[in-house]
Amino acid sequence: MDPHRLRNLLHPDLLRQRLEHEGRPRTTLSFYRYVRLSEVEALRHTLYAEWELLDVLGRVYIATEGINAQVSLPTGNVERFREALDARPEFREVPWKIAVEDDGKSFLKLIIKVKSKIVADGLADDAFDVTNVGEHLDAKTFNRKMEEGGLVIDMRNNYESVIGYFYGAYLPKADTFRGAIEEVLADLKDKKEEPILLYCTGGIRCEKASAYLKHHGFTDVGQLHGGIIDYARQIKAQGLESRYKGQNFVFDERLAERITDDVVSTCMQCGTPNDRITNCHEATCNMLLVQCEACAAKYADCCSPSCREIHQLPIEAQREWRKGRSTRSTKTKAINDPAALRARIHEEEAILASGLKLQATSSAKLEA
Ligand SMILES: [Zn+2]
Ligand SMILES: [Zn+2]
Repeated sequence: MDPHRLRNLLHPDLLRQRLEHEGRPRTTLSFYRYVRLSEVEALRHTLYAEWELLDVLGRVYIATEGINAQVSLPTGNVERFREALDARPEFREVPWKIAVEDDGKSFLKLIIKVKSKIVADGLADDAFDVTNVGEHLDAKTFNRKMEEGGLVIDMRNNYESVIGYFYGAYLPKADTFRGAIEEVLADLKDKKEEPILLYCTGGIRCEKASAYLKHHGFTDVGQLHGGIIDYARQIKAQGLESRYKGQNFVFDERLAERITDDVVSTCMQCGTPNDRITNCHEATCNMLLVQCEACAAKYADCCSPSCREIHQLPIEAQREWRKGRSTRSTKTKAINDPAALRARIHEEEAILASGLKLQATSSAKLEA
């Protein structure tokens, strides 16, 4: 077995404990670059060995088309990490973004995966020129172009934009990049001459999206350079007004980092203004939802009474129940349709009120 996987096999609770007792401040940062890489398998092992020495944790994808990394490391090692990157011609001076809000528990492991692409975008890259990207805009220019009436488009998935976005932005309903860009093409096909302002989390998705839109006839495409992450940094550094409101969804344990105090979403269970994004704690459900503290207490951190019922069974009984069940089905279901979630909760509460158990009905639902 790959020796690097051994440490990663430790139980998450143990890894979390270790991290909490580490007692060193950590910095979370991200970077990507479209660059030709060769012998990626060997490179993967070299990077792992190098970065492990610097206590780097995180999720990194490498492919022949480049690198996409989100990592955390002891703040004291950041300089050495920079030197290690700069020592490789392919990563020299790669710009990185430091996460604004960070408690150092972003990642528990270091995972470096060799992929066919650094972003799973589902697009046929050979059908268009991926290097013909839109104009890179800094925060100030992006704000100005917004004021001038540019059409702002969120290139993230529905569950990311639910808790924060640029006011007035077009927000696709899809939960994949491919779906989102197809939606943009279909819905905005009459706006190909208008100034387009794209944004995403770190800027990487806009590289592909802008090239794709230009290929499909959009003439004036700009993109937020460095994404929301760097926008937040620039806004802070320059004392500008943030036109991005709410939280920024991130792909680590935190799920979100706050950009402004605005609350742009509502609890999907009770409908009150709230932007606490979380997963249903019933492991086979794992559904993403916005859930207020009161509902979290009421439903034991679950999306519904049926999930709560399973989640509160003894561990052994839960394991038994889980056998043979997949964990994929409900992941983002509630985002576009919280009303359906509330209806389901209502239904289940009625069943409970009549003195029946839910397990049978809920398993039927999950299979449906
Ligand atoms: Zn609630
Ligand atoms: Zn659930």
